[in-house]
Amino acid sequence: MRKTLVAANWKMHGTKAFAEQLLAELNSGLESGNGSSQVVICPPYPYLGWVADRIGQAQLGAQNLSEQPSGAFTGEVSAEMLKDCGARYVIVGHSERRSLYGESSQLVAAKFAAAKSAGLIPMLCVGESLEQRESGKTLEVVAEQIQAVVALGLEDCWESAVIAYEPVWAIGTGKTATPEQAQEVHQFIRQQLGKDGDKVQILYGGSVKAGNAAELFAKPDIDGALVGGASLKAEEFIQICRAA
Ligand code: PGA
Repeated sequence: MRKTLVAANWKMHGTKAFAEQLLAELNSGLESGNGSSQVVICPPYPYLGWVADRIGQAQLGAQNLSEQPSGAFTGEVSAEMLKDCGARYVIVGHSERRSLYGESSQLVAAKFAAAKSAGLIPMLCVGESLEQRESGKTLEVVAEQIQAVVALGLEDCWESAVIAYEPVWAIGTGKTATPEQAQEVHQFIRQQLGKDGDKVQILYGGSVKAGNAAELFAKPDIDGALVGGASLKAEEFIQICRAA
């Protein structure tokens, strides 16, 4: 049986004061019961260590990392540094990184490998744009994004790794994929993972809210969610965790 996992992607939002309030509310809400799901909080880089000290039962994740181990790479942050700050997870290849910062599937794969070699659990994001969906290319796009990681031939590649299916057209738009649309892609992703397919947690992301979480989680191949906007509202995020 796969455990459910709900991850909060705070993106570039908030201040320390905001985070302090949010964490206090989350901690007291989650203490009184979050079902059996694992909870991961991914704050902006500067707050990692600070959040680590206030995170309660949840685990810490980062939103990005460098593919390089160390060196003269101004502005970059390595997997080891994230680990040092208490992170256990790291989001890799979020669609905002791919589209706004030009991260190719090959670069994303290199970041995935860097995370694994430092002992972090990468959360690999994959997903198609609206144009790609409308032209029937969804599965092709997702397969290419996954195969870029497979091509590295990493040992135990999918052991201690998470995948998040995030259709780009559903992120931050209020438009959620229907449970059926998501299930179809999740099932396809499992097939792409071969013998490890049944073990890997596959999360859905894209406008997950308290009101749609339960029906998404009811699908057999949806193991939880990567949550953006709704993770900034304590009560709503707690309800999503409880639905998982
Ligand atoms: P959203 O973001 O929940 O605000 O759509 C999801 C994500 O970008 O991971």
